[in-house]
Amino acid sequence: MTTVVERIRSGRPVFSVEFMPPRDEADEQRLWRAIRELEGLDPAFVSVTYGAGGSSRDRTLRTTGRLARETDLCSMAHLTAVNHSVAELRNVIGWFAEQGIRNVLALRGDPPGDVMGEWVQHPQGLAYAEDLVRMVRDLGDFCVGVAAFPYGHPRSADLDTDTDHLVRKLNAGADFAIAQLFFEPEDFLRLRDRVAARGCDAAILPGVMPMTTPKVLAKTIELSGSDVPARIAARLDPLVDDAKAFRAEGVDIVTETCQRLLAEGVDVLHFYTFNRSKATREVVARLGLVPARA
Ligand code: FAD
Repeated sequence: MTTVVERIRSGRPVFSVEFMPPRDEADEQRLWRAIRELEGLDPAFVSVTYGAGGSSRDRTLRTTGRLARETDLCSMAHLTAVNHSVAELRNVIGWFAEQGIRNVLALRGDPPGDVMGEWVQHPQGLAYAEDLVRMVRDLGDFCVGVAAFPYGHPRSADLDTDTDHLVRKLNAGADFAIAQLFFEPEDFLRLRDRVAARGCDAAILPGVMPMTTPKVLAKTIELSGSDVPARIAARLDPLVDDAKAFRAEGVDIVTETCQRLLAEGVDVLHFYTFNRSKATREVVARLGLVPARA
């Protein structure tokens, strides 16, 4: 089983995709349709987010296991420290190894129910993602990624402290970081510069999501923690009542962002798909990131 690092150091620009554990049978079918539609486009890797509670965690594990068994895709499991003792985390990581999963995105996670609620460490658990990075590394031959935040993590006092913590996570043994959503290419490039200025040369992958509907735009605002820049609002706001035009403009904006990132030497783009493939397929085709035969 190849690792994410092997796949992203291919010497050519590539893309990766992120899925979520399916909520029900219909969602599972939609997810697997998206996986099959993207498989032929040769994504560098695919990842599955880790749910907040028991049943969604089971669905994450089932999906990642099935990806490893039934596809040729390089897959990565997300794992969070929330509500897990160290013993439970060890079990999950051991299960990953048994399934042939070599790549883990090590995260702290958010308090269930209210992402900005009080963070309470499990009494036998871990405090920060950095601790989980060390644990995954110690337990096997894993390739490890971490999360990064172009505007700073909402709990961080300022960007400098946030970047210091990110670099600590990377130095604890992570191979790469994947960035939360952002609006302007410069917002991501500044994050990359802040990390490089601290002497850390780990790959930082931008997280992107085609803004196909006002709902997706609202999700981007929520996840990024940033307001829509005036430049982008001026292009999308007049189209909120015209679904087709909004989608076309939203896909254009994200394609332009990706083009700028590629021109700045970024060579991996990580797409948040929400288990749908069409917009991602459109953007990567426009960027010329798909194999000629696809
Ligand atoms: P940490 O790196 O531990 O950081 C948490 C906070 O603590 C930050 O403010 C940080 O600056 C601070 N901090 C870190 N280290 C220290 C230290 N040593 N001392 C003091 N302060 C410190 N959530 C899920 O539930 N499931 C997922 O699958 C998932 N996937 C994600 C994928 C990506 C690409 C991203 C960007 C986020 C994802 N998240 C997911 C959300 C993530 O779990 C939350 O944003 C969480 O609040 C932060 O996790 P972290 O791993 O960055 O935490």
